[in-house]
Amino acid sequence: MRVGLFGGTFDPPHLGHLVTAVNVRQALKLDLVILMVANDPWQKNETREVACAADRLAMVQAAIHGVEGLVAGDDEIKRGGPSFTTDTLTTLSAKYPDAQLFTIVGDDAAAKFGTWQRAGEIAKQSTLVVVDRPGSPLVPPSEFVWNRVEVPRLEVSSTDLRARFVDGRPLDYLISAGVLEVIADRGLYGVPKS
Ligand code: ATP
Ligand code: MG
Repeated sequence: MRVGLFGGTFDPPHLGHLVTAVNVRQALKLDLVILMVANDPWQKNETREVACAADRLAMVQAAIHGVEGLVAGDDEIKRGGPSFTTDTLTTLSAKYPDAQLFTIVGDDAAAKFGTWQRAGEIAKQSTLVVVDRPGSPLVPPSEFVWNRVEVPRLEVSSTDLRARFVDGRPLDYLISAGVLEVIADRGLYGVPKS
């Protein structure tokens, strides 16, 4: 079995995440790509308020609903505390004992890979996969082996989507309809509860 771990804050999940997940899955012949929702994104939570983990998980579940081979991961939420990828890979290797694991990241995340907790462990536990995002090329640390997969470069980010909620600009097509429903149901990002 070949299992991809695509971790993120997913605040909110968007088309860039989904297009990346399905294309990496096809390119590397992965059985599953797990969109793993960070419980406590420790590199982010000091700088801004992050939607609660349960809401972000509900949005990812809606995003992947009906998409073959994509799974919403709640292992980091179940574990609690700060989310370290190396711990998640340990959990996944127990869950999928014979699986080859792949850690999938965008180039912005890959460029900061050296700051991740026990990055060397992650590189031993899994095959590292990087996809380019639009913008200036970001170089992942060269002491690790990176497998680059070409995916459509979509200039979509959760940061831009959160700004769109604030400004009242459209989110249609950037985010799946099911995710917009969860946002309205739960009254996230300042959207009045439906
Ligand atoms: P934020 O703007 O809040 O940082 P984000 O859009 O970068 O949100 P994250 O949850 O931070 O989303 O990212 C999770 C993973 O998805 C990271 O590895 C990131 O590089 C990758 N990613 C995010 N957006 C894209 C995109 N448009 N194309 C490819 N990869 C992406
Ligand atoms: Mg990001």
